Amino acid sequence: MKHYMPVRVFCGDGAVEKNAAVFAGAGERCILITGKSSAVRSGAQADVTGVLERNGIPYCVFDGIEPNPTLSSCAAAGRIAHDFGAAFVVGIGGGSALDAAKAAAVFAANPDLDEERFYQKRWEKAPLPILLVGTTAGTGSEVTKVSVLTDSRGKKHSIHDDRLFAAAAFGDPKYTASLPLPVTLSTGIDVLAHCAESYFNRSADEISRAFAVRGIRLLYAPLLAAADGSELGTEQRAALYEASILGGLAICGTGTCFPHNVGYYLTENYRVPHGIASARFLPALLDLVREKDPAYAERFFRELGIERERLLRLIDLALPANDIAMSEEEIDAALPRWENNNSVRNTCCEVTAAEIRAILVKQFQKN
Ligand code: NAP
Ligand code: FE
Repeated sequence: MKHYMPVRVFCGDGAVEKNAAVFAGAGERCILITGKSSAVRSGAQADVTGVLERNGIPYCVFDGIEPNPTLSSCAAAGRIAHDFGAAFVVGIGGGSALDAAKAAAVFAANPDLDEERFYQKRWEKAPLPILLVGTTAGTGSEVTKVSVLTDSRGKKHSIHDDRLFAAAAFGDPKYTASLPLPVTLSTGIDVLAHCAESYFNRSADEISRAFAVRGIRLLYAPLLAAADGSELGTEQRAALYEASILGGLAICGTGTCFPHNVGYYLTENYRVPHGIASARFLPALLDLVREKDPAYAERFFRELGIERERLLRLIDLALPANDIAMSEEEIDAALPRWENNNSVRNTCCEVTAAEIRAILVKQFQKN
């Protein structure tokens, strides 16, 4: 077994205010990196700025991070941080703002870095220290060394590096109360995808499986309630948030596998929200593993204590109706990206490009 996760995690009601000393000790000046409005709407930004002001730490705010953040926005944020003399970076928001904060911390320390050197991880100076405050119960980016960015050609890539781990992450489930129901669902189903893709990953071990199984057990009831259209209460929000951290810990050890990578295509070309894009391929993952490694598939459901049909029903209820239609030519043109692809290879059983083609044809081909 192996597991490395150096982030100091503070999770629970009042996480930011109760741990103000961590902000106070992080440096003399900072930049807040956020999306358009979620940091303010969730109440997280007010808590953070309150702590910074009480501790006399000047800050500036970059609120231009878009969903599926572009590398160019991260570079712009990083250069502003550099000019402001920021000593640390605070990301506030969903996975997009948190991932962007990680990349901005790289550019803040290396303001002249270009796209090529960024992706090749030729960073002369270490990124600024990163603090993260999550507002979605989804990506688990709080505890991963991953930043998923959209490059100048519009393609999503995940970049993995130990230097992208945050110094500390703060998770207060009350920040997720302002999420509209569709975003609760699309981010919550991402947690299920992380846990399942980690469990069915070539490098899964007892540690990652423990996180993955516990994550799904925690998320099952609140996600089902949300999929039924119920307003979630405080405890349900807390369970979903904790599950998102467990999902992050699971993929921290293993990475994701083919559903996330094929899902990027749906996000890039059809603007499908990240969690929905990944979860579209979970039934196919469960089918493939059942066919190729039935004992392992059976072990998964046994450890979960949730039957296959019930899990499939949850996925079905949580996903919106599929309105994407692709031509056979489009599917064939996209296929090369999944040949010799690391994420696809990480799946615990072999997945060929022909099998991905069949999955796409079944789900999306126009009649
Ligand atoms: P997101 O893109 O961060 O946010 C989705 C939408 O929800 C945005 O419009 C955002 O608004 C809004 N929002 C966020 N928190 C809110 C709140 N508390 N109240 C109201 N609205 C809120 O969604 P996400 O699913 O958390 O992140 C997805 C990104 O993370 C993708 O790029 C994905 O590839 C990446 N990801 C990263 C990892 C990792 O390990 N690093 C893992 C999986 C996925 P604003 O625009 O105003 O912020
Ligand atoms: Fe994800």
